[in-house]
Amino acid sequence: MLTIHSWHDLTAFNTLAMPAKAQFFAELSDLNDLPELLDFIAKQDLPSLWIGGGSNLVLADEVPGCVVHIATKGIEIQSDSEESVLIKVAAGESWHGLVTHCIENGWYGLENLALIPGSVGASPVQNIGAYGVEVADLIDQVEVFDTLSNTFDVMQKADCQFAYRDSLFKRNPGRFIITSVRFNLSKQFEAKCSYAALQGWLDAQGIKELSAQAIFDAVVAVRQSKLPNPEVLPNAGSFFKNPVVSNDCFEGLRQIYPEIPNYPDASGVKLAAGWLIDQCGWKGLYRERVGVHKDQALVIVNHAGGSRQDIDELADDIKQSVFNRFSVRLEQEPIAYP
Ligand SMILES: Cc1cc2nc3c(=O)[nH]c(=O)nc-3n(C[C@H](O)[C@H](O)[C@H](O)COP(=O)(O)OP(=O)(O)OC[C@H]3O[C@@H](n4cnc5c(N)ncnc54)[C@H](O)[C@@H]3O)c2cc1C
Repeated sequence: MLTIHSWHDLTAFNTLAMPAKAQFFAELSDLNDLPELLDFIAKQDLPSLWIGGGSNLVLADEVPGCVVHIATKGIEIQSDSEESVLIKVAAGESWHGLVTHCIENGWYGLENLALIPGSVGASPVQNIGAYGVEVADLIDQVEVFDTLSNTFDVMQKADCQFAYRDSLFKRNPGRFIITSVRFNLSKQFEAKCSYAALQGWLDAQGIKELSAQAIFDAVVAVRQSKLPNPEVLPNAGSFFKNPVVSNDCFEGLRQIYPEIPNYPDASGVKLAAGWLIDQCGWKGLYRERVGVHKDQALVIVNHAGGSRQDIDELADDIKQSVFNRFSVRLEQEPIAYP
């Protein structure tokens, strides 16, 4: 049954643990309740925010309109052959839970994306990626409710306009409610461990025979050693995207900083945002309520009830100092709402 709460505390619904209050809040665990919920939102003419794990959000202290926590569950096999499997997964399933389930069943492709917090429904929004894999590589279709046309729609992968940490869904906030995602997974395992940190862990463990479980274990171990657990120290993962600069800009920077980490990119050269921030001396910075993680300059943490203003001020100061030193503009990765 659908229950709508007023001025609901969202602290437990965002991994930065911002003490935000939603004007209205509902949990959607049955898609059959969607029409009633949309009707409530339309009749009151409310803005709406559809969330999963709240691990990529920076919320304001008061969130106007209706926040809907999508909690629908279900993993359905839609086609099964010797080579591959097509599975349709409800938006409210846990992302890491899905990765684990797939490995247990011998369905491969998602193992490099283990331990990313959040829900399946949010995974296409910023085209989650880690250790050389992006979720778009495995997505076949996305089912949505389009609030513009008021219809359910099935979007093929090509329609989703996936790019680095970007998609049609991210560029049209509030328009598409993702109800399920269909993945095309292989039954033949192919290891992707070109990332030095991953290979280094496997070498250190003496693992020569690669399996999906070995990659999964390596990803989990490397992530746990590098990133703070939001349940212990509230954070939203990488706070800035890795900036892509032109070849000319990169050459200019390399003259001054020969050691600058860089990666080839289709539209120029990708730089490591964490390295740029670290060079500006931010790692481990502690302000009254918020700060920068002591081991990972890319992660902003909320030590003690920090507000949206605290986070915004720190993020702006970091951006400004990186720009002053390198003339590179950083872009925030988590979505600020509203
Ligand atoms: C410790 C940590 C590590 C992280 N590591 C990575 C990483 O390696 N790679 C990476 O890409 N990201 C990473 N992230 C970011 C985050 O986990 C992902 O972006 C994740 O997909 C967000 O899922 P969520 O369910 O928490 O989304 P939310 O934070 O709840 O929502 C994020 C956005 O998606 C929208 N949204 C959510 N669900 C739906 C839906 N069903 N329909 C329509 N819109 C929806 C929301 O409106 C919002 O705009 C990390 C975050 C943390 C805290």
